[in-house]
Amino acid sequence: MEMKVNPLNNWVKTSRKVLVIGGPCSVETPEQFLSTAIEMKKLNVDILRGGIWKPRTRPGGFEGKGIEALKWIKDVKQATGLPFATEVGSPEHVELALKYEVDVLWIGARTTVNPFTMQHIADALKGVDVPVMVKNPVNPDLALWIGGIERIYNAGIKNIGAIHRGFTAFEKAKYRNLPNWQIAMELKRQFPDLPLICDPSHIAGDRAYIEEVCQRAMDLDYDGLMIESHINPAVALSDASQQVTPESLGLILNNLIIKSETSTNAEFISQLEKLRTQIDKLDKELVEVLSARMNLADKIGEYKKDNNVTTFQQGRWDEIYNTRREWAGKMNLNADFVSEVFKSVHSESVRRQEEVITNLSEKV
Ligand code: PEP
Ligand code: MN
Repeated sequence: MEMKVNPLNNWVKTSRKVLVIGGPCSVETPEQFLSTAIEMKKLNVDILRGGIWKPRTRPGGFEGKGIEALKWIKDVKQATGLPFATEVGSPEHVELALKYEVDVLWIGARTTVNPFTMQHIADALKGVDVPVMVKNPVNPDLALWIGGIERIYNAGIKNIGAIHRGFTAFEKAKYRNLPNWQIAMELKRQFPDLPLICDPSHIAGDRAYIEEVCQRAMDLDYDGLMIESHINPAVALSDASQQVTPESLGLILNNLIIKSETSTNAEFISQLEKLRTQIDKLDKELVEVLSARMNLADKIGEYKKDNNVTTFQQGRWDEIYNTRREWAGKMNLNADFVSEVFKSVHSESVRRQEEVITNLSEKV
């Protein structure tokens, strides 16, 4: 389906080239929220974030202050002039958030996984004009993420953004959630106009890694960042280890190298053109080599047919797999990458041999 979403700069003015959403994981007390918000304003953050309802994995944790906290939002918005964003997980949340003039809504990773809930939320959004951001589902399922976005789009919301917050892993890894950057890149490829925002806090899970995840997002041309910041992270009621002080957030934002998709530097443009001409030439040779290789595979197919030999031969595949990996190592290439290439080449060879055999059989 074709989605015509509004690019980010149509629904929010950013003070930098990149949208920055900052604020605490949870809105805890009027003082905590106001003091954090004032610091966010000083840092030129574009949108203030704060959880009103917190989806906890296990019961008994801090589940957010709910309506009580919604009542504090107005004063903080007035004091800072910043729009406020929060997570909604049900039609009731949508109704209450809108009643208390929340400016931007997002749907959390634990909600995006459930098409029933997504549809209920989408139904509650019909006829409403509010930007909605959809976080990726906890599992690495791009279709489910897109499906959630489509439900919101079909409800008539045109100001939509996607938030990449990483995917649950069973094994303990460096980051709390696996980034699987290629999933977000595929979303961007399919929907180039859909604003893509990175949530380094929930990817990293540890404040020590926030900066490197932010930079990675900039290198990959994300449109924005949503970073958790708390006036005193040590006493935060949720996600304490990943929240940064406003001071650290300031340093992170200052250190960030914001990159562009192009450059006007003439020297850069001419060097890039030269190197790309060489790449084009090599790619053409690669295609020619692949074509010659497939012609040989077709011939083998004919011999295999005449001698009743299977198209797939495990021994031959093992030999291809191992030797190509070895060659890769000697040529300074990543062996896994080369294996992937040859898996694809070999399965195409087998497919073509099947085709040769079928065509020859039909002629008989
Ligand atoms: C959050 O943003 O605080 C949150 C709970 O996020 P997620 O849905 O990504 O876990
Ligand atoms: Mn959080």
